[in-house]
Parts: sequence; C-alpha cells; structure tokens
Amino acid sequence: MKKKLDHAVNYISAILMFICALAVSLSIFLINIQSSVDTNSQNIMTDTVSRQSDHILSILQIHYGFLNSIADKMGQSSALLSDENMELLVSMAENTDFERTALIETDGTAHYDNGAEKNVSQRYYFQEAIQGNETLSDPLESSIDKETRVILGVPVYQNGNVIAVLGGSYNVTALSRMLFNDVFDNSGYSLIVNQLGEIIAYDGDPAYHKITYGDNFFKFYERKNLLSNATLQNVRQDFQNGTGGTVKVRTASDSATAQYLSYTRLGMNDWMICYVIPVANAQGSYEFIKTDESILLGVFLILVLLLVFYVIRTNRKQNEILLRTAQLDGLTGAYNKRATEEYINRILTQMPNEKGTFVILDIDKFKEVNDQYGHAVGDKVLHELSKTFFRHFRKDDIIGRIGGDEFVIYMRNTESKEIASARINKLIENVRNLPFEEMNGKYVTISVGIAFAPEAGSCYMDLYKNADTALYEAKHNGRDRYHVYTQVCNQIKNSI
Ligand code: GH3
Ligand code: MG
Repeated sequence: MKKKLDHAVNYISAILMFICALAVSLSIFLINIQSSVDTNSQNIMTDTVSRQSDHILSILQIHYGFLNSIADKMGQSSALLSDENMELLVSMAENTDFERTALIETDGTAHYDNGAEKNVSQRYYFQEAIQGNETLSDPLESSIDKETRVILGVPVYQNGNVIAVLGGSYNVTALSRMLFNDVFDNSGYSLIVNQLGEIIAYDGDPAYHKITYGDNFFKFYERKNLLSNATLQNVRQDFQNGTGGTVKVRTASDSATAQYLSYTRLGMNDWMICYVIPVANAQGSYEFIKTDESILLGVFLILVLLLVFYVIRTNRKQNEILLRTAQLDGLTGAYNKRATEEYINRILTQMPNEKGTFVILDIDKFKEVNDQYGHAVGDKVLHELSKTFFRHFRKDDIIGRIGGDEFVIYMRNTESKEIASARINKLIENVRNLPFEEMNGKYVTISVGIAFAPEAGSCYMDLYKNADTALYEAKHNGRDRYHVYTQVCNQIKNSI
C-alpha cells in the first residue's frame, strides 16, 4: 500500500513539475509579448509625436512663407499704410488661419486689420522682427475663449531696409487639437508646454487629464503622485535638453489609469509638444494579441487537464493490471494463495452472515501424472482443470490455487447445502470424464473437502482447517469424491 502511495506521489510530483515548467515557460512567453507590445506602443507614440512636431513646423513654415510673400508685396507699395496694404491686412484676417493681422511701423505702432492701433514697441517679437528676423511671440492666452495664440512676425523690406513688421496671430490650441485629431481614435490629450512646464496650449478629453492653463506640467504630475519619481525627473531632464521620449505614468491609487506620455521638441521657442494617452488606447491595435493569448491559455489549460486526466487514467489502469498480476497464479490464472486468503477473509468479515461454501480441491495421485507423462503434461492438466473450474463456478465465487495441485474455491451465497454439494459432485463428475490427449486419453480425478460458512468457521484459517479435514476423509475413503466437514469428521481425524 505504501509502495502504491509512493508511486502515486512520484507521478503527481512529475506531473506537477511538468505543469510548472510549462506554466513558467508560458508566463515568460506572455510577459515577453506584453513587454514587446509595451515597447512597440511606446515607439509608435514617440514616432507619432515626432511626426506631428515636424508637421507643426511645416505648417508654421508655410505661414511664414505666406507672411513673407505678403510682406514683399507691401514693401513695394508707395506708402506703408496705403489703402492697398490695409486691404491686404483685412483680406489676410478674413481668408487665412491668421485670426488678427497687423502692420507695425518701426516705432512700434501696430495697425490692426480691424482698424485698432496699439504700441507694441516693447514686445520681444517686434524687436526681433524689426532686426530682420522671423519671430514667434510668447503665447498669449485669450481671456475670452481661453485659447492660446502666438504672433508670427516677419520684416517688411523696402530697398533692402526694414520699414515695418507684418504680424499675424495664430491659434496654437486649434493647431494642437487638429494635429492629434485622427490618431488613436482621438482618445489622446495634446499639450504644448515650455521647458519650465508652463502650459502653452492643451486640448483633449478632460475626463482623464484635468490639466489647465496656469497649471505647471511637472507640478501637475507630482500632484498625481507618480509611482516613479525618477520618471518625472527624466522627463524634466529631457525637457531641458529638448530631447524626445515616451514614459509610462501611473497614478499610485489606480493602475487602470496608466498612461503613456510622449514628448518632443517642437522646434519653436523652447516648446515641447506632449501627447498623453491611456495605455489601453495606445495598445488598441494589439488587442488581437490579447484574444490570441486568451485562446492560447485556454487551450493550454484544456491540454493540461487532458494530460492529467490521461496520466491518472493510464496510471490507474496500469496499477490495476499490476495488482491483478500480483494476485494471480501464472499457470492457471486463479488467485494465488495470499490473494485467495485475503479475498475470502474480506467477504467473511464484511458479510459474516452470508452462507458460503468453502471448498478444498486436490488432484488425486497427481505425482504419478508428473512421473509418468512429465512435468509439462502435469502443468497442462493443471491449466485445463482450472479452466473447467472457471466454467463451472459463478463469476463472484473465489477460485484460487493455494499449492501444487491444491485449489480453494469459495462459493458465495449458497443457501442450500444440498445444492452446493450437488454442484461439487457435478464438478467431480465432469473432471472424471475429461480426457487428456497428452495422457493418451486418460483422465484425472479430484478429491474435495467442504466446510460450510459460517457454521464451520468465520475466518479463512478455520474454514481451511475444517475443509482440509473433510478432504482428508475424501482421500481416505478412496478419492474421486467429496466429503463435508462435520464435528464427527473432525473427531475421526483426531483419533487417527
Ligand atoms: P494425493 O492423491 O494424495 O493428493 O496424491 P498426490 O500425488 O497428488 O500427492 P500430492 O497432492 O501431495 O502431490 C502433489 C504433487 O503435485 C507434487 C508435485 O509433483 C506436483 N506439483 C506441484 N506443483 C506442480 C506444478 O506446478 N506443476 C506440476 N506439473 N506438478 C506440480
Ligand atoms: Mg494430490
């Protein structure tokens, strides 16, 4: 029993080790995939932001080009503030992305398309442009619509001298909004931020990104309680160096809000363009991998279950075969001595009131068969006789070979002793009429001792002893017969 248990433990350990090894490999595989998806998504984010930054620059270049061509035209006019030039100003404001346009004289007097006038001589963008440079103003936040505008300024030349500055205000918020409109299903949040983290423009769904003008980008993320301080430090450093990158930011309280933050230098002033998007949205195009992973996991689990089921079943079958083989006599297929005793005792213990017939059966003068025809023929006789016994008795009767030519049969549920005895008698008759070719058609006979349970004993040993006494009687009285154990029979044996 202990051996069987050890065997099962060995099996289970082997299966568990195998499953663990598979599970670990599978986990490593899945973690690798997840990590690749993460890296790829971050790369795509970085690329997208960098592309959009180039896009903004090219849009601004187009606007500078446009301003320059108008400035050229204005420079050729007879007077700077001619009707022709003022009409051009109005037309630009009406027909282009410039929301407000102005022609600024060298003393800083700005003439706007709407007729207003203002002195901007102190403005940096004016001072730069009047030197002959293309300029971009700091962001001007409108108190009316909360959107941010910048002023693009170009010098107006006449005969090689700067005679004025042509400026146009441009809505940067609208620009950043437009840029990311078509990427990642419009689920991201775009920001233009300066190196210090001041918000220049922002746009996006405020549901997950409640940044606003007046906030500081870095403070905002500190407030968000980033899990990794180093990450924010890195971002700050990148902003200072003007390098781009993507980081994964996650609030400490809720892992579901993990976001990718991508940023890159815009190429205008010290501005950085940032794009923030929930990780789940950024990885949306990899959703199919998750489905495939689930299928893989499902198939893996089913296969493991099937394997476990198969191994357990095979093991059980194998054990049953081993057990049966260990219990059987190789020559006759009957139970061996130990199994016979065990099974009969089990029945007697479990059903102490069941009436049974304990039979010992011994071949008469079997030694002579061996001597005369050889051991092989003797074996053949043993084999054939046991086949006869199997045919003669019922399925749930116990048939065992307990010695050389000695068999024990336990007939179950034999309510009538007469019927049981008659069946034994019939067997003796059958054997007596069974010719053996190997013995030139001769026959063997058997002698039988019978003890009825429970009267003659309630355990194997008692019944064996008493049936043996009866067998002795049968032998003594001329063989080829049966004898039933009685008290008297026992007394006779004792007196001999
Ligand atoms: P009795 O009528 O008194 O039983 O006489 P017997 O010759 O049968 O005597 P006993 O039962 O004592 O002898 C059994 C013999 O069975 C002894 C041995 O030669 C033979 N024998 C025992 N095992 C085997 C076996 O596996 N194969 C063969 N061929 N013979 C066996
Ligand atoms: Mg014998």
